[in-house]
Amino acid sequence: MTDSSPLSELRWHPLLRQWVVVATQRQHRPQLPEDWCPFCPGSGQVPEQYDVHIYPNDFPAFSLNNPPFSPEGDLFQVTGARGACDVILYSSDHNLLPSELPEDQWKKVIGLWTRRTSELFGNPDVEYLVVFENTGVAIGVTMPHPHGQIYALPFIPPQVKTELDSASEHFRVHQECLYCKILAGEVEDGRRLVAANDSFVAFLPFFCRFPSEMQICSRRHFGGLPDLSEKEKHDLASLLSIVRKKYDNLYGFPMPLMMLVRQRPAKGEHPYFHFHVDFLPIQRSPKKLKYLASIETGAGTFLNDTLAEEQAAILRNTEPVSSERLR
Ligand SMILES: [Zn+2]
Ligand SMILES: [Zn+2]
Repeated sequence: MTDSSPLSELRWHPLLRQWVVVATQRQHRPQLPEDWCPFCPGSGQVPEQYDVHIYPNDFPAFSLNNPPFSPEGDLFQVTGARGACDVILYSSDHNLLPSELPEDQWKKVIGLWTRRTSELFGNPDVEYLVVFENTGVAIGVTMPHPHGQIYALPFIPPQVKTELDSASEHFRVHQECLYCKILAGEVEDGRRLVAANDSFVAFLPFFCRFPSEMQICSRRHFGGLPDLSEKEKHDLASLLSIVRKKYDNLYGFPMPLMMLVRQRPAKGEHPYFHFHVDFLPIQRSPKKLKYLASIETGAGTFLNDTLAEEQAAILRNTEPVSSERLR
């Protein structure tokens, strides 16, 4: 960022009790030449050769150089957007789809997520890490080079806060993990399972909000990427690869989706939290997209036009079909 760029700031929404990131410098992002990609070797922006690579976001909403998170004011509270925004390059191959990444490449991506998680968890300004991927023009991504992102936030975002509150209350009242219970229920029912291996299970949750929404949940109870064993890293890579292939084979074109790696907050003890990966696809049929309109965006209530049991059966039988045990 140049000195003349306005910094982002956080403004408190007292009605919804959440921070809004005001990042006007993102409006001034230049239109890149069509035949030039900053993520490709030769651009001068990345190493000449790489497997996977962290690229600092050129127009970060959150930056460690921003003023600290220290809310001031009464009704109109404002504070600095201190944090970090990384771009995670999955491969140096511009045209490779995430569904085409070999398993061992996913393992390298997981390795990079894990390394960056450990670094940022140790930063005193970071409270939560959102590891995610937006894919597809329908999602608003025009850069085809395979990549995801990491946002390091100085606060716990509201949806994560709700999830943490639900899980911690369940843990306190029942002395058991809510995610472990959901996973056991899904495995026992079986109708919404899609693929599985020794360490992870992929299923369409009973309570899906998005068409073909999927969760990859670890069989073992642990809270974050740094807790993954070598075997679990391998198994997660394998299931990510299978799930991405299934999504792209479902309608015969790359599925526009959001992927979020859910882990415990950076600070404090959260024994009730359970590592999982969420997929939120927005294609509800070969020709129709799911739009988040008034009822979803303005009221927070989702209408799902698909039935999880039916979609799961279709995805279960979509190539590649998992040869390993589902239960
Ligand atoms: Zn590229
Ligand atoms: Zn658990």
